[in-house]
Amino acid sequence: MAADILRLAIPGVQGLSPYQPGKPIEELEREYGVTNAIKLASNENPLGPSPRALEAARQALRDIHRYPDGNGYALKQALARKLSVAPGNITLGNGSNDILELLARAFVQPENEVVFSEHAFAVYPIVTRAVGAQPVITKAKNWGHDLAAMRAAVNARTRLVFIANPNNPTGTWLAAGELEAFIQSMPAHVLVAVDEAYFEYVNEAAYPNTIAWIGKYPNLVTTRTFSKAYGLAGLRVGYAVSSPEMADVLNRVRQPFNVNSVALAAASAALGDEMHVARAAQVNREGMQLLSGAFNSLGLKFIPSAGNFVCVDFGRPAAPVYEGLLRAGVIVRPVANYGMPNHLRITIGRPEENLRFITALKQVMHDQ
Ligand SMILES: *Cc1c(COP(=O)(O)O)cnc(C)c1O
Repeated sequence: MAADILRLAIPGVQGLSPYQPGKPIEELEREYGVTNAIKLASNENPLGPSPRALEAARQALRDIHRYPDGNGYALKQALARKLSVAPGNITLGNGSNDILELLARAFVQPENEVVFSEHAFAVYPIVTRAVGAQPVITKAKNWGHDLAAMRAAVNARTRLVFIANPNNPTGTWLAAGELEAFIQSMPAHVLVAVDEAYFEYVNEAAYPNTIAWIGKYPNLVTTRTFSKAYGLAGLRVGYAVSSPEMADVLNRVRQPFNVNSVALAAASAALGDEMHVARAAQVNREGMQLLSGAFNSLGLKFIPSAGNFVCVDFGRPAAPVYEGLLRAGVIVRPVANYGMPNHLRITIGRPEENLRFITALKQVMHDQ
């Protein structure tokens, strides 16, 4: 019976496997009988949200019998001020994943192709196949996007290109010059979605602010999120900045109340606490240094990352290391489903979490 139901699904969906999230702490504690587990698996902000965001969320709870503001007026105003764009350039999403899906639903037909890189974010193939379109996956270069290969993959059928900058899970990033040249080279029938989920963490002089290019390129859309540096992953708020024409199209297909009222309030308040984001970025930089040093001293290669996570290479299948870490109460992320069976992705945590991870890793490597 189950097989018959699957056959009724559109062919692209039949070929999909569900997104694999990081293992929840409660699940590990239940299955392995450990306590005090830590999770460095989902690129969440280990400091949590700003206290201002929490207070705003609490206040908003009093009105949850009302529908949210379907236009997200206050949050769009706050974002517009911060980003120096007009509210009409902004589309709010139930997480930025919602925006990625809106792009596919509004613009991509079954006869279209969607171009993205090998080892890129797992949501791109999901939203592509869900609309019955064809993913075109280009080979990575040094674990990052090969823009020349991506340009060469674009043809008359291409409607959308996804670029993650920095990329998850590899942490690789593209500089302003090469990225703008790529966008400039796109034919008018191709949209370029630059996914900047880790924008607030990047500390590289050549890293672009693509939002400044929106006025120049009507086919460019930048997506960002409150899930990572702002620490609001559980509330689900993200946004796109694009030409008003593209925002108008996205607005036609989005669910009327796609961002809930608690999330809207918390995100607006979080935007006002820049110190909190700066602190998160600082803790991340220090943690990244600590982990890099530990990998070096263990003789492990890793992919230099501009995000709040790092992929480390065990030179052999990493699954047993992952298992060993789980038994020590440390949840990291296997990335075999990204074509990286020898790597694990570690989210940078608080200092004590990073130390606990390093201790556990040394023990696991000693034991295996
Ligand atoms: C985490 C992440 C997102 C954010 O997803 P949300 O839906 O905003 O929580 C988007 N893109 C990439 C590459 C990510 O790693």
